[in-house]
Amino acid sequence: MPQGIGTVVKAPLSRQSSLVTHPSLGSFRRVLAARGEQGDRPYGTPGTGGPSCSPREILRRLRGAVPGCPLLSHPEELRPYECDGLTAYRQIPLAVAIPESVAQVQEILRVCRTLRVPVIPRGAGTGLSGGALPNRSGLVLSMTRFRKILAVDPLNRTARVEPGVTNRAISEATSPFGLFYAPDPSSEVACTIGGNIAENAGGLHCLKYGLTVHNVLSVKILTAEGEWLVLGSEAYDAAGFDLLALLIGSEGLLGVVVEATVRLLPRPPLARLIVAAFPSVESASTAVGKLIGEGFAPAGLEMMDNLAIRAAEAFVHAGYPVEAAALLLCEFDGGPEEVDDQIELAEKRLRESGADFLRSSSSEEERLLLWKGRKSAFPAAGRMAPDYYCMDGTIPRRSLPEALLRIARLSEEFRLPVANVFHAGDGNLHPLILYDASHPHELQQAERLGRRILELCVELGGVITGEHGVGVEKLGSMCIQFRAPELAQFHRIKEAFDPDGILNPGKAVPLLHRCAELGAMHVHQGALPFPEIERY
Ligand SMILES: Cc1cc2nc3c(=O)[nH]c(=O)nc-3n(C[C@H](O)[C@H](O)[C@H](O)COP(=O)(O)OP(=O)(O)OC[C@H]3O[C@@H](n4cnc5c(N)ncnc54)[C@H](O)[C@@H]3O)c2cc1C
Repeated sequence: MPQGIGTVVKAPLSRQSSLVTHPSLGSFRRVLAARGEQGDRPYGTPGTGGPSCSPREILRRLRGAVPGCPLLSHPEELRPYECDGLTAYRQIPLAVAIPESVAQVQEILRVCRTLRVPVIPRGAGTGLSGGALPNRSGLVLSMTRFRKILAVDPLNRTARVEPGVTNRAISEATSPFGLFYAPDPSSEVACTIGGNIAENAGGLHCLKYGLTVHNVLSVKILTAEGEWLVLGSEAYDAAGFDLLALLIGSEGLLGVVVEATVRLLPRPPLARLIVAAFPSVESASTAVGKLIGEGFAPAGLEMMDNLAIRAAEAFVHAGYPVEAAALLLCEFDGGPEEVDDQIELAEKRLRESGADFLRSSSSEEERLLLWKGRKSAFPAAGRMAPDYYCMDGTIPRRSLPEALLRIARLSEEFRLPVANVFHAGDGNLHPLILYDASHPHELQQAERLGRRILELCVELGGVITGEHGVGVEKLGSMCIQFRAPELAQFHRIKEAFDPDGILNPGKAVPLLHRCAELGAMHVHQGALPFPEIERY
């Protein structure tokens, strides 16, 4: 018999190495609460209610349907799939299928739908919100063998790729044509386009070039019923409802991506980076708004506060001024004359905004070194405290000074240091809450502080996700972000695509029941909104 989904198992620390070691979660450990966050009493999207037959029968039927497809079911084989980048949450699945053709995926979906087996699509498993976390009685559908770049069209500036291709691989394959794929998560060497589409991934250069949603023209998906859908088009417009935008960021809940056509951009001939140091966080964050407001279009605009600067400098010796209260890293790319002009003008504005130290790269080597500090800030943070918890939320740029001030106050209130290193130009915050998990009290404090930071983002007109998705991590915060009618609409969309609830159940959209439990849903005189919607 399979174990029930809700049982709590905390892996011994020695075994808690992960296939991805995202530093932000380095040793942040959290066990699924005994009540079963995605199990017997699910808190996210409803599931199938459990398979209709025994695990042995499920495996037999799958083997019969796709005889040539690797199907892992031995506990030791399943171990590498027990979590994604959110290593605090772990669950051994029933099995892992690793298909290599669309026909195989179709067959697998058909069997799973018939037997009511949950299917959890998975790319590289680098996600940071538990989106690819297995379900105990479910099948992990690994898409990593879909690694082909099917076509590069330099005239149309597009590439047609399979979902298991990495971002970096697309840019490398299109480089001979002077083209590249712009979204560049820090995980770009490992993460897959399928995972990027499911999470609407961002990166250092998304300020200028947009998120995944702005760089994918069309996708082919298989619905839970195993039917083909083509969403979007290679032309500038697509007729009908914009289902492509709906699919991007849907965290594997609406369909399995089996192909994508992505937009390619001409590779800029030159990029230069300014590092500007400020005497206060406020002056640095005000400068961000000023730069953008005055019409500058940096390719990337990142910020680090003093804790992050010190950690990064000690780690990679990039030459950052360690006394600075905050640093801005501002990159311009394009033709050489244009870039040099922008650098000169931006330096002037930054100085007027209070920068008391400026350094601009004059060679590619120097540019890469200056970026290295920023890119190493997360691993470097691991040296500041035994544990840290990386938050991800977005606010309107104009609210940056207020947000950072209030995060500093929250840090004092909770008596936990917070380092800030983030995509300032996008308003995408990544506060790193430093704590020591060997004191159980501190873990709870870190989690409470994290929730308060997300509440702050919503209060300032922002959102509880930046680029990491909701997964299982932020289900509770979704109740703060959305009202019951909005959540109910999400559930209806899910039902339209996946009436049996087999695709990635328990993720991304909380049940109204959960919001009511958290006290985040307004229940007037006991009258629940949307009483027709199932509650657990
Ligand atoms: C070191 C590190 C740095 C990171 N930096 C960034 C960053 O700068 N910006 C950023 O946005 N993210 C970042 N991330 C998070 C992560 O890399 C992204 O969310 C990425 O898009 C996940 O891709 P993946 O292939 O690993 O997907 P997985 O983790 O395997 O899955 C993520 C979600 O996608 C779904 N999914 C996967 N494949 C498919 C498919 N074919 N069809 C349907 N659904 C699918 C899964 O069900 C899951 O819900 C970082 C992660 C790490 C570990």
